[in-house]
Amino acid sequence: MSLPIEISAEHEEIIEECRLLSEKVAPFAMEADESSVMHEPTLAALRSSGLSSLMVPAAYGGRFDQVDPLAVCLAREVFMKTSSHLDSVFALQGIGSYAISRAGTESQKEEWLPAVAKGDALAALALTEPIAGSDLKGITTTVEATKTGLILKGAKSFISNAGSASFYTTLAKEGEGYSLFLVPADVAGLNVEPSPELIAPHVLGELTFDNVILSESSRLGEPGAAFRHVLATLSVFRISVAGAAVGLMQGAIEEAVRHCQSREQFGRPLVKHGPVATLLADSWSDLESARLLTYQTAAMAAADPEGNLDRSSLAKLTATEAATRVVDRCVQTMGRWGLIRGSKIEKYYRQARPMRIYEGASEVLRLGIASRLVKEVGDGA
Ligand SMILES: Cc1cc2nc3c(=O)[nH]c(=O)nc-3n(C[C@H](O)[C@H](O)[C@H](O)COP(=O)(O)OP(=O)(O)OC[C@H]3O[C@@H](n4cnc5c(N)ncnc54)[C@H](O)[C@@H]3O)c2cc1C
Repeated sequence: MSLPIEISAEHEEIIEECRLLSEKVAPFAMEADESSVMHEPTLAALRSSGLSSLMVPAAYGGRFDQVDPLAVCLAREVFMKTSSHLDSVFALQGIGSYAISRAGTESQKEEWLPAVAKGDALAALALTEPIAGSDLKGITTTVEATKTGLILKGAKSFISNAGSASFYTTLAKEGEGYSLFLVPADVAGLNVEPSPELIAPHVLGELTFDNVILSESSRLGEPGAAFRHVLATLSVFRISVAGAAVGLMQGAIEEAVRHCQSREQFGRPLVKHGPVATLLADSWSDLESARLLTYQTAAMAAADPEGNLDRSSLAKLTATEAATRVVDRCVQTMGRWGLIRGSKIEKYYRQARPMRIYEGASEVLRLGIASRLVKEVGDGA
């Protein structure tokens, strides 16, 4: 099945707005990208751009009737080329709030979504635990109904935006099932500590829920329905990781091409040496194939946002695996200049790596993709 890829005039306008924001952020992008705490100038620039509004439905201050996966991909492509910090703060606004847009009560939507759209409230999604990573059914955070209210106990690990978020969309075990809860950042009994610093710094924290008392109105969606909403979130936002990977590849290739045009060895520019040209041409091939698949998958997700999980996984797998290959080749073409700490290419090299792990490690994605393939072939589709 395939769909035409339509970049509408509205999408073009969004790309332009994202470019303007990226230009504003560019002078401090290097500083922001090396920060493991929220970079306030980046956040302020995102707020004043109004682009967080791409992450919520129009009825609550958003740009489109529903979150538009293609618009989110295009924005992340532009942002990631300039700043992973900007990309991440933007992405989390959707990743952390999508379950509210999808399953929240009217009062939850009114309380949080307009503030997310303005960038005044920062969102987070808390799934991973010290023990449970890929296997989320292994979580040990629990919620229990008592006379005083719902008691939340447990811990979450490697949570993006932790410490800066206004609320945490939190997965907990409830009896034999799994439910989602909206945990405000200022609730008593919630503690946040920084996670270990990564090779490509990221705002990450470890949460502890020490007998946190929640009211029934903190419940997000029906009891036991958490995975439906989590998978719907991933269905929409996994593709956007592919969008970010496309932006990273574009940036890396531009760096490499500029270098290989200007540096000469053996009497001619590097780009005129066959093996170097091959590295660049193969990188462009990887980039354009990933870009097409990403846009097409995002367009398909717009038509069927929640039935698209395996396709989203395929786009994420393709683009993030390609990004690692591409950035490695680009470093190679730049020789020792590809290795300089603090250079753009070295930053891209580090930033590409986590993309194959978060929001579904490549190996785990392949399992879902292969079973979908078996189904499609079996159905004669
Ligand atoms: C930058 C960053 C930001 C993050 N932000 C968040 C966040 O905001 N919220 C959140 O909840 N979590 C977040 N995470 C955590 C992330 O979701 C997990 O790292 C991810 O789900 C993988 O879990 P794990 O690291 O525990 O790896 P594990 O589950 O221990 O897996 C390790 C490796 O084993 C292999 N593997 C595991 N299971 C299988 C399988 N069934 N078949 C084949 N191979 C397998 C894969 O190669 C995998 O990479 C973030 C992580 C990073 C790096």
